[in-house]
Amino acid sequence: MLESDRAYFASTRVPALFGAGVRKLWPLPNREHAVTAGGTLCRLPSWLVGDPPRPIVTMRHPFRPNRNSSCQRCSELVSAMPTTPGPYEQLHDTLLATAEPGAERDGLLSALRRGVPFEMRMAGQAYQVVRQYGELVRLLAGRSAAEELADAHIMVDLMRLTDGDRAFLMLRPREGSTLILPMAPVPTVSRG
Ligand SMILES: [Zn+2]
Repeated sequence: MLESDRAYFASTRVPALFGAGVRKLWPLPNREHAVTAGGTLCRLPSWLVGDPPRPIVTMRHPFRPNRNSSCQRCSELVSAMPTTPGPYEQLHDTLLATAEPGAERDGLLSALRRGVPFEMRMAGQAYQVVRQYGELVRLLAGRSAAEELADAHIMVDLMRLTDGDRAFLMLRPREGSTLILPMAPVPTVSRG
């Protein structure tokens, strides 16, 4: 796989998360800072975040880097921190590690790398979710393997996805290998 294939994932990575806080009792631009237990990331003097008088007031939303209203130094520091993979990237790498190599896995991995939306994704007890949400009647192969899992009292991650003229059912038990089965695609509504 080419590294450039993962370009979509870069856009879904989540920046490091901090609370936001502003200095209320200071006659300077009221920019939001990334707040940590020890003060602000940009290291405003500790007496400014002391108690009392608590000049840093924390906001209800997280710190949002690179906004006009955000502290530039805090933004730089947050942007330099490692980002967290988004859900598509996490699932992609999980399938690489847990699903059997083959055409179905390749097809699903390709769809994830292009951000094709899930039809359905949920987790639950296999005997409760596989028959109800798996749409097993659409399976083109592997019905018996899915039926076997459908009776099990184990936690399973279920996902369906249609990518053009192909569709997939993914059943991932907490332990063991992941099933990726071909399904009949859901017809896409033509726009035009
Ligand atoms: Zn700051």
